[in-house]
Amino acid sequence: MGLRTGDQYVEGLRRRKHVEVYVLGKLVEDVTTHPFLKPSVKAFKATFDAAFDEDTRALARVKSPFIGEEINRFVHIHQGPEDLVAKVKLLRKLSHKVGTCFQRCVGWDALNTMYIVTGKLAEREGKKVYFERFVEYLKYVQKNDLALAGAMTDVKGVRSLRPHEQPNKDAYVHVVEERGDGIVVRGAKANITGVAVVDEVVVMPTRAMTEKDAEYAVAFAIPLDTPGVKVVVGRQVNDLRRFEGEIDGLPYLFNHEGLVIFEDVFVPWERVFFYKEWKHSGELVEIFASFHRQGYAGCKSGLGDVIIGASFNLARQLGIADKPHVQEKLTEMVFLNETMYSAGLAASWEGRKLLKDGGWWVNPMFANITKHLVARFPYEIARLSHDIAGGIIATGPSEADLKNPDLRKLIEKYIQGVPEFTAEDRLRMVRLLENISLSAAYLVESVHGAGSPQAQRISIQRLYDLQKAEMIARRLAGMTNAQLDQKVEPHKPSDAER
Ligand code: SF4
Ligand code: FE
Repeated sequence: MGLRTGDQYVEGLRRRKHVEVYVLGKLVEDVTTHPFLKPSVKAFKATFDAAFDEDTRALARVKSPFIGEEINRFVHIHQGPEDLVAKVKLLRKLSHKVGTCFQRCVGWDALNTMYIVTGKLAEREGKKVYFERFVEYLKYVQKNDLALAGAMTDVKGVRSLRPHEQPNKDAYVHVVEERGDGIVVRGAKANITGVAVVDEVVVMPTRAMTEKDAEYAVAFAIPLDTPGVKVVVGRQVNDLRRFEGEIDGLPYLFNHEGLVIFEDVFVPWERVFFYKEWKHSGELVEIFASFHRQGYAGCKSGLGDVIIGASFNLARQLGIADKPHVQEKLTEMVFLNETMYSAGLAASWEGRKLLKDGGWWVNPMFANITKHLVARFPYEIARLSHDIAGGIIATGPSEADLKNPDLRKLIEKYIQGVPEFTAEDRLRMVRLLENISLSAAYLVESVHGAGSPQAQRISIQRLYDLQKAEMIARRLAGMTNAQLDQKVEPHKPSDAER
């Protein structure tokens, strides 16, 4: 089949059988027409259209060494630093078109993670079965250009207890039965981006494990319409706007996350890529997390561009764009935005190979730095944008007011700034800025997506070699004659590189 268009993706969603998706307590019949999920489908769809649109085609298409055909980059296994850079660039570009999280990157990161993890098991321990199964699955995904969700975060129950110690045995997804033809799994994954609008979900363990947690150390992929899989879509800030018109409820600007519940779900062996490999569970998480942390450089800086552009336009609408304090704020926003992006590019250009033949991964230090910047800077960019936009961002009249014939003339008169722009222009831009700068995708997800800030601090602390830095200082202070090695950065190898 090869590359799919956006419309073919949407058609594919309609063909799924007995998918169980709930929104606000009710079973959804068709995610592609449901007002709550329609914007999410549109945003996801953009990742398919990217392979055909003039302005993104070159970035979004790539030749697969596995099937020898052109595929969508969102199902590609990175073949070098250039591919990692192209990922960040594509994500920035797509944010410009979609204005929210387009949700397909998690499944992509899951593919690259499982390729490396199963490849390492084959190389190091001679366990080739997982790698062979995974590559077969990868080819199937690439040939059919599937929409994937990646599911890592378990609901976790009591955070201080390991999976096997939990009072609720299902607080982490685990295997409850081994059969001749496969396994049966139970548990739930939380905050899963885009999960209601995908073909398949790739499930991975969420933490380092001990031998007693072996049944929890499991990774697999299944179609979303597998019996026993339920999705409960979560709420977001301003989510009822989705039921409104095109100004207040901007049609693209929402993604979704969901709780995915596995109620004794059967997974055939050919879809099991990792099982009882508890020793390698921590490494799997590290590889995945660093991939996703790198990606945020692209999508969040892309949303930053929209916010900067909206702020500049609103300043122009008010006639204050050339005031020094406004210029200062815009420059600060650009600085913060480009800092996040630069860190992600560094993580990409400094990428490294984890397998003898490929298995390209990011620089883990720079990927963690990227995500740690992303956990802070969007809040500051949003604050500055609200400062420029004025109180109207929280108090402006609604689209319904504008459409009321009795009110329209008055709103046109009193909401307009400079004559070049209409009151409707102002309200449109204000709502765009409000919906992006206060969205789950730009704020909360920037903090908690791909791991909460503390997870990055732990990685940064582990990866920096304080002893080496101390030695550099001691040499210069004349306290030692020790020789320096050739490495420039005092970084330690990560677990995945050892
Ligand atoms: Fe992709 Fe960004 Fe959404 Fe993650 S948050 S899925 S990287 S768009
Ligand atoms: Fe995310």
